Amino acid sequence: MATQYWSTRDPEGKKVTASQAILNGLAPDGGLYLPVELPHLDFELTDLPQLSYQELALKVLAPFLSDFTTAELRECIKKAYGDQFDDERIAPVSWHAGNGYLELFHGPTLAFKDLALQLMPHLMVAAAKKNDPDHSIVILTATSGDTGKAAMEGFADVPGTKIIVFYPEHGVSPIQRQQMLTQRGKNTFAIGIDGNFDDAQTNVKKIFRDPQVQQTIGDNGYRFSSANSINIGRLLPQIVYYFSAYGQLMKAGKIRAGDFVNFSVPTGNFGDIFAGYLAKQLGLPVNKLICASNENNVLTEFFRKGVYDVKDRDFHVTSSPSMDILVSSNLERLLFYALGQNANKTTKLMKELQEKGVYQIDQQTRDHLVDFYAGFATQTETAEEIKRVYRVDHAVLDPHTAVGSFVAQRYQAATKDDHQLVVLSTASPLKFPQAVLPALGDKDNAKIPGIEAIPFLASDANIPIPDSISRLFNTPSQPEQSVEPDQMAATVLKILQ
Ligand SMILES: *Cc1c(COP(=O)(O)O)cnc(C)c1O
Repeated sequence: MATQYWSTRDPEGKKVTASQAILNGLAPDGGLYLPVELPHLDFELTDLPQLSYQELALKVLAPFLSDFTTAELRECIKKAYGDQFDDERIAPVSWHAGNGYLELFHGPTLAFKDLALQLMPHLMVAAAKKNDPDHSIVILTATSGDTGKAAMEGFADVPGTKIIVFYPEHGVSPIQRQQMLTQRGKNTFAIGIDGNFDDAQTNVKKIFRDPQVQQTIGDNGYRFSSANSINIGRLLPQIVYYFSAYGQLMKAGKIRAGDFVNFSVPTGNFGDIFAGYLAKQLGLPVNKLICASNENNVLTEFFRKGVYDVKDRDFHVTSSPSMDILVSSNLERLLFYALGQNANKTTKLMKELQEKGVYQIDQQTRDHLVDFYAGFATQTETAEEIKRVYRVDHAVLDPHTAVGSFVAQRYQAATKDDHQLVVLSTASPLKFPQAVLPALGDKDNAKIPGIEAIPFLASDANIPIPDSISRLFNTPSQPEQSVEPDQMAATVLKILQ
């Protein structure tokens, strides 16, 4: 049976196909798309150790993307998970200090977003061919650093697409800036704005809704879409690696088919961990999903007390910047399930969040969240965790992974839960030399600003420097473009003339 999608905020439950959901990104009512019914996966756990990542991706994704042909999906998957990854397992599991670490940083931008963003552009092009063949796609993204780069890398030179990324000129790390300004691809544009991330995000949303801009770009043969994790096309590819990890645990003899495992997920926008929740609903034997936050610990409070409260909270800039977030968009998807797929109730809570900065859920709804455990790590605890794991076998974690690792260890100590546990390792430590070097005892080199500190970390940690990092040093960077936030729409129009 075909899998159809509906919006978390549509009480009438209007249905769209998978390709329409991917092309739209956000539903017209502002809600997020979810499958009306979860499909049945056509393989057994005992098959997992034998499947390649690409074969597994096809088996997991095909039932979700039922208006794509198998040939189309095979082609998309082949392009996505090829030699742009430096490990043929794509997402290998390593073992340190007793726990597994699912390494999601072997792609071109050295962070887990590659796993989805190497695939989604190809799905989007196929989706456009089915639904709107007369328009090219323009991806418009506001980024605080990682998403923008991963999206540019994914869309670079993909025919029929352009990508425009706006980033806060003074709000990205030197490495992130260099990554964006050395991006290959004639169809990619990175533009700094004289403002913060919120200015970038607000104006991108405004441009999306501006009828005059829509009209002008439509006349020029373009339509907008989104590469953020609100797009279901970014979420579904992330289910695959939970199954892949399980297969690798079986292969390593750590578990047998059917044994339950725990996953600890460093969380920001709640996309990655929600994919784990879907994996569990699809039949993967998952005991607990551990939601690990940094000092921006709104989610910890939510799971512990049933209250989501951002109204009197300060935003903390931490050593794990990709998790510095207060409003986790994808939590809306979990709420929708916890509320019995009730769009009216979901809409009401989202409205309360927007208007009052807080909402509360009742006990019955909380009972649906038993699969989750939540905790957080301070920046000091994060640094201590990098040190602890380094002492065991000289493995070096990035600060995001260290947050997941710290919370997992606390959970194990507090509960004595001895199921096998896998920490999702979301970025390479090489991206964060200034945060990682002091934890390894190299305080001097940590003072070196920007990308120049990377070789010292690579040498201390004995990690080979991947091509994507070497390129930062040998590729001449584009001159930085800078516009005022109120000039963003005009800039988009100029690019699309
Ligand atoms: C985006 C990101 C996260 C958070 O993932 P969500 O899906 O937003 O919860 C964690 N770690 C790294 C390195 C990231 O880039």
